[in-house]
Amino acid sequence: MKIVVLTGAGISAESGVPTFRDADGLWEGHRVEDVATPEAYEARPSAVHRFYDARRTALSAVEPNPAHHALARLEEHLGDDLLVVTQNIDDLHERAGSRRVVHMHGELRSALCRGCRSRMPWQADLGDFPPCPRCGVSELRPDVVWFGEIPYEMDRILAAVGESDLFVSIGTSGAVYPAAGFVQVALLNGARTLELNLQPSEGTTLFHEHRHGPAGVLVPEWVASLVTA
Ligand SMILES: [Zn+2]
Repeated sequence: MKIVVLTGAGISAESGVPTFRDADGLWEGHRVEDVATPEAYEARPSAVHRFYDARRTALSAVEPNPAHHALARLEEHLGDDLLVVTQNIDDLHERAGSRRVVHMHGELRSALCRGCRSRMPWQADLGDFPPCPRCGVSELRPDVVWFGEIPYEMDRILAAVGESDLFVSIGTSGAVYPAAGFVQVALLNGARTLELNLQPSEGTTLFHEHRHGPAGVLVPEWVASLVTA
């Protein structure tokens, strides 16, 4: 059985990672257009770097939760038949042991050079404008997909969703495209669809089955049912 799992902010929130809050349109007190658009970076690169530098530093204070660990356990059983597609920019899936992870919105612990377009693992701050190790130009930006930019690896993701037998959405609002459209791709290709979320998402009626509650409870239960079956 081929499975694609889409994860969103909800799974990281249970580890204490602050998330964009739809209700008031703020992200850790910042308006999204002030920190998550190419225009904001052009206008105030230092302020944008400070925001992402702080979030990168804060990753050291959080740990993967039982939902992340359960998905890593599922990968041990399914191998290449499982792909985790995450909208999250933290590294909690990897730290739980998952290896087949696509970060469609980029990663905090990665830098993107605007000079040579290289992407590279990055742990330090970017706010002091360090030179790119590849080309030497001081044009490193957060390797995060901002509003108005195209998510990474869409061809690979859509191919995997199209070939999947089961598509599972965990901790996503169902409001942010293109990820919100993956369930329709899965349905068009005859896959079963399952939603595991704290509350019904905006797209909840598109799923054959939904279970509502904390990811840290629902995901280990679901994985245990698959692994023992
Ligand atoms: Zn470079």
